[in-house]
Amino acid sequence: MKPQTSLEILAEALRRLPGVGPKSAQRMAYHLLQHDRDGAAQLGRALMQAVEKIHHCAMCNTFTENDVCETCLDPERDASLLCVVETPSDQMMIEQTMMYKGLYFVLMGRLSPLDGVGPKDIHLEKLIVRATDGLVSEVVLATNFTNEGEATAHYIGEMLKARGLKASRLARGVPVGGELEYVDAGTIARAMLDRRTT
Ligand code: ZN
Repeated sequence: MKPQTSLEILAEALRRLPGVGPKSAQRMAYHLLQHDRDGAAQLGRALMQAVEKIHHCAMCNTFTENDVCETCLDPERDASLLCVVETPSDQMMIEQTMMYKGLYFVLMGRLSPLDGVGPKDIHLEKLIVRATDGLVSEVVLATNFTNEGEATAHYIGEMLKARGLKASRLARGVPVGGELEYVDAGTIARAMLDRRTT
């Protein structure tokens, strides 16, 4: 078998990006090599640096360059409230409402049996440890209002209740099938205020 050329290796690496097929990977590779070599080098360095420096916060599981992220270290935060979200961008949406002052846990995904995403893949063991620290008194389930988000909220809610923890769910201000990322801050704020115990 012939060894892969550098061009093939590059195109194959680009195909790892979501939504990039063989054709567009090849186009991207040609573009970088022909028109933007500086950009290509910058992209390479940025990727190396990010992979080396960014990891998960020991407490909330979000991306950080430190052991524990800034939000978790903030003494102004209400440590009795823990809001569970699917992604860092969902967390950002809730932050923008300016009315939630508790802490977070970021799943970095949602349960999706069809795609092979199980409880282990969304760090539920870490969530249990986090939620049973003795300070947390309510876990707010703020996963998306999609089928998978709802199933994830239900699963986590049951898991927490089995351990004697109180779980609540964002109220239905967020439309069915809605992803927090695309909902306005006012609606999320309302849903947070009206959250109900599961
Ligand atoms: Zn954190």
